[in-house]
Amino acid sequence: MVDCYCSQCRALRQSKPTKDGTPRLPRNWQRFKDEIWCDTCWHAAFKLRAVSIPVRMMTPELWAVLREAWNACRAVANASVLALLKDDVVRNGQAKMPAPPKTYLYPVGRAAAPELSPRSVVSVTHAVQGRYNRQRWDVLWRGAASPPLYRRYPVPIPPDSFDIRHDDDGWHVLSVRLGGEWRDFRLDRSAGSQRGLAALRQIMAGEAKGVEASLLCKVAHVGDHRARKWEVMAKVVSWLPRGEKQNATCGPLDVCTASDVFMRVLHAGWSDPRNIQADHVRTWIVGHTAMLGRIKERPQGREHKRREYRVRCDKYRNRIDSFVKMTAAQLRRWAQQSRASEIRYDDSVRDYLPSFAWDKLRQSIALACDDLGITYTLAASGEVVDEIHGTAREE
Ligand SMILES: [Zn+2]
Repeated sequence: MVDCYCSQCRALRQSKPTKDGTPRLPRNWQRFKDEIWCDTCWHAAFKLRAVSIPVRMMTPELWAVLREAWNACRAVANASVLALLKDDVVRNGQAKMPAPPKTYLYPVGRAAAPELSPRSVVSVTHAVQGRYNRQRWDVLWRGAASPPLYRRYPVPIPPDSFDIRHDDDGWHVLSVRLGGEWRDFRLDRSAGSQRGLAALRQIMAGEAKGVEASLLCKVAHVGDHRARKWEVMAKVVSWLPRGEKQNATCGPLDVCTASDVFMRVLHAGWSDPRNIQADHVRTWIVGHTAMLGRIKERPQGREHKRREYRVRCDKYRNRIDSFVKMTAAQLRRWAQQSRASEIRYDDSVRDYLPSFAWDKLRQSIALACDDLGITYTLAASGEVVDEIHGTAREE
């Protein structure tokens, strides 16, 4: 065993040496620019963030390479889920849900797509297994969800197989090793992508640490709802440096949902509460539900209806997603302006928008707090407790 020191706080951990004599990194520690960081120092200085930027000027050749890789990843993902299901239990009178199966998925993935690189196989099977274990309770125990099979699966790219650079025409380019060759993807440079590009520039400058990139296929926003246009998105996950902490000492920002308005926000420094309206979201939800009902009634063929369904649902999801983002951004601005030290969030009243992406909103608000370096507290939640199977998880 050799000593392994944190370069920042000099914390000491014993670790095994690697072949070349340098210490193996302890769990959750990081190596960055030849320095070793303990998990505490690392999390104080860096935050894990993902940025997604549309890819521009796709050539038919790039499409072909990507399509092949997507199909391979989807095959690996679905073969993994099936293997896990095969090894898992069926609920039948057991008192407790047993631990998840310890299926070794690598050979399964390898057999499903021999052409995919071993590291991509590991990345896909690992992610799929994690997601499967998180959903087991709902799938196997409550029967509340279907097994997570995949229609599309992004191509994961490990950190040493991608590179970000500028090309001669001033575009940001994501170079990716795919199908045995390096291929360049030009990234969108419109105003909407500037925040993402700023994060990529931090990786290029060596201020941030890239973790993983992936290329995925997404339905683009198009005016005509009948046409489906596919767009390639480059997603890059990286550790970004946290900025200077703002001087946040002015009490909590109280955010709660209400029955007469979507959200009411209070702060000690304000004379009146501020509201966030969502009348239009209510219209979307009602309209979307009614539209799905109408499609069902139509005399067209099954395949046609299914396509129409997908188009509508994709569009609806995009709209809700951007509303969630805007709401979190608004709360973030208010927290910043009022120098709040905390956001206290309470979504126990959900009458105003009965069906809504509450989980997503909560995650976005927690992320905004993390960005600002302030506390996020879930004061109360409208989560429905599963009454049939008791309140506590029998794990
Ligand atoms: Zn440290």
